[in-house]
Amino acid sequence: MSRLLVIGCGGVAQVAIQKCCQNSDVFTELCIASRTVSKCDALKEKLAGKTSTVVTTAAVDADKKENVVALIKSYKPDLVLNVALPYQDLSIMEACLECGVHYVDTANYEPEDTDDPEWRKIYDKRCKELGFSAYFDYSWQWNYDQKFKDAGLTALLGTGFDPGVTSVFTAYAQKHYFDEIHTIDILDCNGGDHGYPFATNFNPEVNLREVSAPGSYWEDGHWVEVPAMSIKREYNFPQVGMKDMYLLHHEEIEALARNIKGVKRIRFFMTFGQSYLTHMKCLENVGMLSTTPIDFNGQKIVPIQFLKALLPDPASLGPRTVGKTNIGCIFTGIKDGKEKTIFIYNVCDHQECYKELGSQAISYTTGVPAMIGTALVASGIWNKRGTLTTDEFDPDPYMDMLNKFGLPWVVDENPATVE
Ligand code: NDP
Repeated sequence: MSRLLVIGCGGVAQVAIQKCCQNSDVFTELCIASRTVSKCDALKEKLAGKTSTVVTTAAVDADKKENVVALIKSYKPDLVLNVALPYQDLSIMEACLECGVHYVDTANYEPEDTDDPEWRKIYDKRCKELGFSAYFDYSWQWNYDQKFKDAGLTALLGTGFDPGVTSVFTAYAQKHYFDEIHTIDILDCNGGDHGYPFATNFNPEVNLREVSAPGSYWEDGHWVEVPAMSIKREYNFPQVGMKDMYLLHHEEIEALARNIKGVKRIRFFMTFGQSYLTHMKCLENVGMLSTTPIDFNGQKIVPIQFLKALLPDPASLGPRTVGKTNIGCIFTGIKDGKEKTIFIYNVCDHQECYKELGSQAISYTTGVPAMIGTALVASGIWNKRGTLTTDEFDPDPYMDMLNKFGLPWVVDENPATVE
């Protein structure tokens, strides 16, 4: 029995909200609030007559804490699910603290303006000290840990698929399969085809920033950074087939390196086709991925934001995307003195997702875990306080809900490993 405020109404939010409405026992009331309220109203209309959850809508610019505080004070939710953009994480967290409500998100903080000198100073210091140069890192949100603890509140960080489910898979492997986990390879394969020469599966700005950045992995207690797309492997994914995949920096590595005792190496690989990489390189070479504003005909334009306006809206890819995703983790380690390797993964079919909710599988595989993490906090099953990632809770109820809400998983005890 809880009242939920969801901020954002894009591709991921549309799935998370529809899934919350399939779980009306937990989410009795829900407010969809976003920058463009017409999108919230359209989703409310789509849900009419299909759920007993009472749905309302509101407009909010979540870049400003005061706006979120005002909305929380008027709607009085028990918790807030942030499925807007990573840029809004801190303003929404602060509003939750001020109003005494729990906070949940799917991606860790990064600033919209990476030229901001205040942010740059801290970023440059972190790059030097930790050795990875991604724009996002957990320090910004972990800094709020004591404040959330003192307020008796939970901030559940990163409950999408990766991060999110991949960290739950790790906690599950640790609990049921290993005495010690030595290596973790997180593999994110999208075998889907949308028929466009170039499109991104989630917010283009966030996505292209992530994949054009240097890759890095955790080994023997420190980060190893490598040039973007310089480590390539092939893997034969169950139900998808052989794919090229490339090592990327990814946020859950940071949390798992901190929380999984004795882990020696953690890597993250994502599949990309040659056409995607060629387009991205070309856009990068001509400056279209830049976040620094340029003057154009008397107007300031941020190249990557202009590119976003040209690219297909990820939320519109649903009807035309065919094929499957396979996302999971390969673990090696020791159980009862013997070496052991397992692969825990989920396979998700783009067209099945579209039939069920009108979305493609990337939004689906993120939105379902967003609902699950929120439901576990809302119902008090996950009740630790502070800023926490999904690997820090009991994985069993989450794993059960993945099966129940459309993302069934498999444990392969004899998988191929990645060189
Ligand atoms: P979209 O761009 O499709 O949607 C973002 C939504 O947030 C839009 O409705 C947008 O409004 C709204 N929004 C943006 N700025 C503001 C603001 N200042 N105030 C209020 N609302 C705002 O993004 P996605 O749905 O693809 O991604 C959502 C989140 O999920 C992102 O943080 C992304 O990084 C994360 N993600 C996580 C994954 C995981 O596995 N963990 C995988 C994929 C995504 P408007 O319609 O006006 O633009």
